[in-house]
Amino acid sequence: MTRVALLGATGSIGRQALEVIAANPGLEVCALVSGVSPLDDAAAQHPAALTQMGGDPRPLLEASEPDVVLNAVVGFAGVPATLWALEHGVTLALANKESLVAAGELAVAALRRGGGALVPVDSEHSAIFQCLEGHAVEAVHSLVLTASGGPFRGRSREELAHATVAEALDHPTWSMGRKITVDSATLANKGLELIEAHWLFSLPYDRVEVVVHPDSIVHAFVRFRDGSALAHAGYPDMRVPISYALTYPERAATPVPPLELVGRTIAFEAPDLEAFPLLRLAREAGERGGTFPCAFNAADEIAVAAFLEERIAFLDVPAVVETALARVSGSPARDLDELQAADAEARRIAEGALR
Ligand code: NAD
Ligand code: MG
Repeated sequence: MTRVALLGATGSIGRQALEVIAANPGLEVCALVSGVSPLDDAAAQHPAALTQMGGDPRPLLEASEPDVVLNAVVGFAGVPATLWALEHGVTLALANKESLVAAGELAVAALRRGGGALVPVDSEHSAIFQCLEGHAVEAVHSLVLTASGGPFRGRSREELAHATVAEALDHPTWSMGRKITVDSATLANKGLELIEAHWLFSLPYDRVEVVVHPDSIVHAFVRFRDGSALAHAGYPDMRVPISYALTYPERAATPVPPLELVGRTIAFEAPDLEAFPLLRLAREAGERGGTFPCAFNAADEIAVAAFLEERIAFLDVPAVVETALARVSGSPARDLDELQAADAEARRIAEGALR
């Protein structure tokens, strides 16, 4: 029996994880955590699990003795659970990319000390993780993350000026929580994923490329030094990477059908960094290092929340992040307290930039 602590249990990933767990007799839920939404259904299905809404998840994690922590919290709030699992050598199935973006350096150090495993749930990173299995890092030339391009692919900057919340939430290929769906519309999500890939696979930013692939069938490529590239393909369904992360190194059955190829054409194109500057800003923040990725994430969280409340326009989202990145001090973060201070500083500046 694998004991799973599920954080973010009421969200899009959390609910799909509960489905995967219900279909696999080798998995059991030992802890359930949500933010503000009640856990009623999930708690009723798993009466033995410890439950908590909001607050510091670490005492609950400690008490529930998980084999795997599935972190499906949204945003910077996921950082303590990520660091706890890595530090304790408990396998971390990571959907909460924001924690690795904000706390990459601390997370890598904690993983080394804890000696456990970090298995990505983000589909592109799960794809790369699978393509890399059995290969030496020296053999890798570069990584390619694919992006659907979101609902506004092909639109110019001018055309995006009046993009509405409803349009931004209408993702063409993936059904996800609201924050990541807006991040997919601005390409901030791919920016976060670029930084996530840098930390997960220890490659410099100039060896991680992003290409737009509207069908979301190929999730990523790994290019090797001998001129070959391995791709990972499948229908866009998060139950696949969730199941993989929860059953790694095995591969359990899922209800997702095998990929049908006949009649399918797949295309790739360059991202439009003019219309979607957050991808460029994320790359710059990643390259500057220190707490700049943390600030990128914090400012983006503030801007996306303001956009969802219709307080700012779509194009204000990158503008707020750019302003915040120009103003933060970029001080180093040697521990969680310092990281939380950097996150709070960036949030304050971003809030100020909303007006
Ligand atoms: P969601 O908004 O649907 O769910 C978020 C969950 O986090 C909810 O259960 C919420 O209650 C919980 N939460 C929020 N704040 C919390 C806090 N302070 N403490 C504890 N729990 C808290 O989001 P989602 O789409 O499921 O995404 C979750 C994470 O997975 C995000 O980091 C996202 O980027 C990543 N991800 C999601 C998808 C997807 O298909 N949805 C794909 C790849 C990666
Ligand atoms: Mg992804």
